Amino acid sequence: MQFNQVLENVTTYEAGKPIELVVREYGIDPKDVIKLASNENPYGTSPKVIAKIQEIVQNMSVYPDDSMYELKEALANKFDLTNKHIIIGSGSDQILEYCVHAKCEKDSKILMAKTTFAMYEIYGKQTGAKIIKTEDDQHNLEQFSKLYKEHGADVIFLCLPNNPLGECLDKDAVYAFLETIDKETLIVVDGAYQEFAAFKDEKKRIVPKDLIANFPNAIYLGTFSKAYGLGGMRVGYGIAQPDIINTFYKLRAPFNITTLTLAAAIEALKDEEFVTSCIAKNFEEMKRYEEYVTKKGFEFIPSYTNFITIKFGDKFVSKIVAQKLLEKGVIVRDLTSYGQNAIRITIGRAEQNTKVFEQLDEVLEKLK
Ligand SMILES: *Cc1c(COP(=O)(O)O)cnc(C)c1O
Repeated sequence: MQFNQVLENVTTYEAGKPIELVVREYGIDPKDVIKLASNENPYGTSPKVIAKIQEIVQNMSVYPDDSMYELKEALANKFDLTNKHIIIGSGSDQILEYCVHAKCEKDSKILMAKTTFAMYEIYGKQTGAKIIKTEDDQHNLEQFSKLYKEHGADVIFLCLPNNPLGECLDKDAVYAFLETIDKETLIVVDGAYQEFAAFKDEKKRIVPKDLIANFPNAIYLGTFSKAYGLGGMRVGYGIAQPDIINTFYKLRAPFNITTLTLAAAIEALKDEEFVTSCIAKNFEEMKRYEEYVTKKGFEFIPSYTNFITIKFGDKFVSKIVAQKLLEKGVIVRDLTSYGQNAIRITIGRAEQNTKVFEQLDEVLEKLK
């Protein structure tokens, strides 16, 4: 069958492998599987959120509140804005999709770092837009500037901090760059890991209210999937000036967020203590990875997130290492498809990380 021609260039997103697959294929007890491939919160979800979900689940016959009033109010409160500045998505992924579809058509231009979140390119190509990438893997604003001067752009993606590499630009450098961008260009600041970056280094903090006041053509994206421990619920948000938000509403399907999801997100915002304690533990555990990797003689990219990217150089092949770990029930992300001989490991709980080091020791010993 003949389909929309632009789809010929679109690749399918490859998600981190699920626990079920490892159980099925390698016969490992689900209790023993360590899933550190998708940057979820290894400490789970706030117990208060779980209690709320159990209460709400009793009433599932009625459509959710499509205005999402309560969640928007909660977010407006948190960010000192109004609910006119906020749109909720089924994951911030859905908002990423709106960003591209609201701005792009065939031969539009989208500017991004070479090695960044795969969905930017996928959504972009769905519209037939041209993808322009920097030469460097990590965000390099000089290269962004050069390419912008050369080609212009309808949309610019900045992933702050960046997935899958973990680096993060300073806010001041980002602002200086944004000053040079035309008001017709939509600037997308993907803050999926901002909670982590701002905790580690105040210079990395992007304040949505300040961002959109200074740059009315910018949108800030946040998610409940990472620090808030709600990956299974699918909920994220966009913060921008009302003209952008109103336009995005034209792309939205009705009732795109479930009743359970709305309740969970509202409750999660009431328990910031849970989030902060998870982030603190994350960076404690990250030190153990840095020491381990250094001891092994590999390189890592200093990370402002809840994952660490380990480069094997010419010592090992990341794809094989990831596969061998998988067979032992440890799921990590191989970055070969991103052009990197590296693996990305989500920082787990202490006991999980201890097991990762043991298993990695065994795998590397055998592959030597
Ligand atoms: C995880 C992630 C998202 C979005 O996740 P959702 O679950 O769709 O909210 C967006 N951007 C980056 C960089 C991510 O890592």
